[in-house]
Amino acid sequence: MLKVTPYLGVLALIACVGGIWYPRLGYLVPVVFLAILISSPFRGRWFCGNLCPWGSFNDFFVSRITRGRPLPPVLSSMALRVPIFVLMMGFMMYRLLTIGGLVDQIGMVFVTMCTMNMAASLLLGTAISPRAWCNICPMGTAGRLLGYGKYKLKLDKAVCIDCGKCLKVCPMQLEVNRIVDQPDCLKCGRCVEACPKGALQF
Ligand code: SF4
Ligand code: SF4
Ligand code: SF4
Repeated sequence: MLKVTPYLGVLALIACVGGIWYPRLGYLVPVVFLAILISSPFRGRWFCGNLCPWGSFNDFFVSRITRGRPLPPVLSSMALRVPIFVLMMGFMMYRLLTIGGLVDQIGMVFVTMCTMNMAASLLLGTAISPRAWCNICPMGTAGRLLGYGKYKLKLDKAVCIDCGKCLKVCPMQLEVNRIVDQPDCLKCGRCVEACPKGALQF
């Protein structure tokens, strides 16, 4: 996690709320999506864990009001993620193609996407756990598919004492010390920082 990561959630709020009056703020959505498309083939879901404003919002705001439940496995299944990806991207493309091409109107389409993203984050984040939405978010799914196998977390099993500290800090509730090659790892590095033995590294 970068030093700036905890503060980026403010950008998501500004884009969603401020976008109602100034629709061009909605262009934050395609900027984030483009950054994920460019970075994922090299760093996997690193952008999601370090620079995404909605991810930061989930980690540092939703985490204060969450019920903190275990994530249902269905959330990370492609059977759910792919239809959500197709539906949300289809909805956005339809709105963009029928909107008439004006800069502010296109911006408002992105503000709508931004608000949907935020609403889903809040709903799933409070009911289950802060990063629940990040399992099925279309941009995260794209990052997972493009970044599969890149920038892997490595575990030195000879050093690991099975203390479980890495499991407690993982925002995606991954089995960090068992199956290290997790395609939904956000490369946030919290497990690396929490490990008392230095058994984890990228
Ligand atoms: S999964 Fe979506 S909301 Fe979550 S960090 Fe990635 S792009 Fe942002
Ligand atoms: S496995 Fe580690 S780096 Fe990956 S999401 Fe969990 S805490 Fe972050
Ligand atoms: S925190 Fe480190 S030592 Fe503890 S279980 Fe995880 S990898 Fe092993």
